[in-house]
Amino acid sequence: MTVSLANKERFIIKVYQHVQLTGNNTTIPEQVDYIINYICKKAKIKKDEIGALGIGSCGPFNKDRGYLVLVAPNLCGGLVKRREIIQNDWTGIPLEQVLSQIYSNLKIDNDAITAVMAERLFGAGRGEDDLVYITWSTGIGSGAFVDGRLIKGKNGNAPHIGHIYLVEDGPQCGCGNFGDMESLCSGEAIARDYGNGATTEMVFLAFNNDDPKAKKVITKAAKNFARGLVSINAILDTKVFIIGGSVFMNNIDILLPMVKYEFYRSFPALSNNVEFRPSALDKYLVDLGALSLVMPEEWIEEWQKKRPWEYAPEAIVLE
Ligand SMILES: [Zn+2]
Repeated sequence: MTVSLANKERFIIKVYQHVQLTGNNTTIPEQVDYIINYICKKAKIKKDEIGALGIGSCGPFNKDRGYLVLVAPNLCGGLVKRREIIQNDWTGIPLEQVLSQIYSNLKIDNDAITAVMAERLFGAGRGEDDLVYITWSTGIGSGAFVDGRLIKGKNGNAPHIGHIYLVEDGPQCGCGNFGDMESLCSGEAIARDYGNGATTEMVFLAFNNDDPKAKKVITKAAKNFARGLVSINAILDTKVFIIGGSVFMNNIDILLPMVKYEFYRSFPALSNNVEFRPSALDKYLVDLGALSLVMPEEWIEEWQKKRPWEYAPEAIVLE
């Protein structure tokens, strides 16, 4: 979990703390408040001077009496029988209900949705009305604008591209699905398919050393990733795919040509003229995304001009 404080000119302070997954299901919103209190003390400001709180969170979300509830299987041990991996029995995290009692101007969205907002305002999507941002990382997520409008859906989960089905009888995803996009081409899937206890990074190293198994695993992952993009493009008719996330950003030279090759082999009437761009914000994306949710209109032009995220402070790490 990272929390950043910004004013009209710049990011002032950034704090990182590992997400806490024990105790009752209000632990995470309480942790958010704890870090904000720490930041206020450090930056010598009063809590009521905080004009707005924007949150980019992993999804998916649900709603309970109008409040957004986080139902992420990577945080909630009570979902999809993952208690052996996550040591809690949560089935939902009341993020909005808890924090809205403390912060009156609160906005929460999926982190891939906040990412596409930030890329459109400050990054690789400037001036575009039809764009999809996809993160290719431990998991796979996306956010999209269509006709200049951000799409969200009834619970704010659109488009949850990582969980679209691609093959029959595929491997199981953390969400419970078998054969969806994330189960086939996430960083975790690449490591799993290679086996031998290798990390994703090690598989790419092996690829660069002409290891045939690494070639096979990565080529298959890139092919499936592209097939996911073909599907989402068939639905949204997008103009630009912006791809970010550690798996992609650390291996653009390997992955981008493979993805493009497979993508452009699909139905030309739909795939022609679709562009691919790497994320232009990468390590600033999360902070800028959450900030984009609540940034006052009058800040935007200055931030576009001065790019203060490029001289943002390094994170303070809390135990
Ligand atoms: Zn899934």
